[in-house]
Amino acid sequence: MITVNDKHFNLLYSPEQIDKIIDKVAEQITRDYSDKNPIFLPVLSGAFMFASDLMKRLDFPCEISFIKYSSYAGMRTTGKVKSIIGIPERVKGRNVVVIEDIVETGFTMQTLMEDLKAAGAASSSIAAFLTKSSLLKAPIKVDYVGVDINPLFVVGYGLDYDGYGRNYPSLYQLAAEDAEK
Ligand code: 5GP
Ligand code: MG
Repeated sequence: MITVNDKHFNLLYSPEQIDKIIDKVAEQITRDYSDKNPIFLPVLSGAFMFASDLMKRLDFPCEISFIKYSSYAGMRTTGKVKSIIGIPERVKGRNVVVIEDIVETGFTMQTLMEDLKAAGAASSSIAAFLTKSSLLKAPIKVDYVGVDINPLFVVGYGLDYDGYGRNYPSLYQLAAEDAEK
């Protein structure tokens, strides 16, 4: 168990389990993109560890460019998605793969997919380390899913709780007794 700010979190996936999840996603992406010269767009900040581990497993020509979109404050999505570092112009005419830490309502990805279309991407897909499919509201499809988890809040492996907890190599889930009622 770890404590981040005022909350307790239990281990959900160890680094060894995370490695296996990423192996699977890397295989699927390699199969689909090895001859497509893609641009990967990791979404800062949460996806930085997943993106790093995933990219190290890809051995075909590709580019990486970071973007930053934000919708969260504390443990709640605000519903308003803001672009903080926008989509690079070079996506025009290219096959784009967005790399996200976790898709919950899907509103962040919906906004991003619209922005990618407007920027002239030839194709776009989404690779998410985690999904909470039971909370999905937006009409989007996550093409590559590491693992689908239950709705409880998670931290670690790049994901934060109010700025803290991103540094852990494991993934942790909010202890049931600390969940907001
Ligand atoms: P969506 O727009 O799909 O509702 O939210 C996606 C974003 O909310 C993610 O990129 C992530 O930043 C944040 N988020 C959603 N669920 C969690 C969670 O359980 N833990 C953390 N740390 N962030 C989350
Ligand atoms: Mg995020």
